[in-house]
Order: sequence, then structure tokens, then C-alpha cells
Amino acid sequence: MVSKPRQQAWIISWRELRAEGVIRRSLLVADLERLTPLLSETIGEVDFKATLLTGEAKRNLITIEIKTALLMECQRCLTSCYVNVERSFQACVVEHESTENAESHVERLLEHLPEDCEVVLLEDGLMNVNHLIEDELLLSLPLVARHENQQDCLAQGYRTTALAEAVKVDEKTHVNPFSMLKSRGIEEK
Ligand SMILES: [Zn+2]
Repeated sequence: MVSKPRQQAWIISWRELRAEGVIRRSLLVADLERLTPLLSETIGEVDFKATLLTGEAKRNLITIEIKTALLMECQRCLTSCYVNVERSFQACVVEHESTENAESHVERLLEHLPEDCEVVLLEDGLMNVNHLIEDELLLSLPLVARHENQQDCLAQGYRTTALAEAVKVDEKTHVNPFSMLKSRGIEEK
């Protein structure tokens, strides 16, 4: 079976967004090249929702909400743990003008933008939100990933010093009958 090239989920038609008001998509974690080296496994998807802000059509303001669960190496037990990410941010969609005017046009727009607002350039009526989403995910990753619940680490074989001691004591109390015979000088025949 010949597989069709996958539609690029991160390319959004500005016309479609203006008509629908909301666009929901998913993109593959494996397609985020700057993010994947930081993950322990590159499986799963990033769900996102782009919404044109009501009453903000003039300023072309949109919000992008992202939701995903990424797999990172737990720094306690060194197995994979899920890091849930749920964030939203605003972006201003800038229609591409001639290159001479584009810069001053963007500058003018930026003066009136809310703080922390990203900028997406439209090219041929399409916007690429891949980089914005990836930037947001990179900012969301914890410096040190850990299983939320230490029980999960224990289940993966992780032992705290106190626990390791407890396990040793437990092993001692379950005395091997043959070693008891040996200690009494009686060898098995
Ligand atoms: Zn862990």
C-alpha cells in the first residue's frame, strides 16, 4: 500500500480560520525536531486549537491552546514519565505585504499588541504554527522531569536509601535453609 504524504497539520488557512472561528488539529510529536532530543520517547501527538478572538478581527488576534503528554526520562528512576502540558498563548496574524513595507508594518502592529503576544506571518494566506507550538512546548518542559508520584518510581525498581535498607533486612529474614545448614557445618550430600 502506498502511503499518502501526511497533510501538514500545522499549516492553517487564514481564510478558513476567519470563516470557522476555531480550528482544531493534532500534530505528531515526532515532527518537532527541536523538541524530540529532549524526550525519552517521541510518540504521541500535540492537540491544538486556534481561535480567532471575538471582537479582535481587526487586530487579527488569535489564541492557540495546546495540550499534550510528552515522555521524558524521570531523573529519579531513569525510566520514562509523562509530562502533561496544557498552555495557551496569543498570537497576532500579520498579513504579508511587500518586503519593503513588511518590516514597518510589523513594527506598527507590535506597538499595539498585548504583552507576550507572538507574531505569525501569513504567506499566501497560510500560516505555519509549528514553530510557535514548539517554542511553547520547549518553554513548558520542566528542567528536571520526575514521576509525580514516587510510587511510580518504586514500581520501576527505584530505591531510596531507606527503602534499600528495608529490602536488605527483609532479605536477611527470609533465610535460605541451605545457608543455615552450611552455617552449622552440615553439608548437603
Ligand atoms: Zn520515576
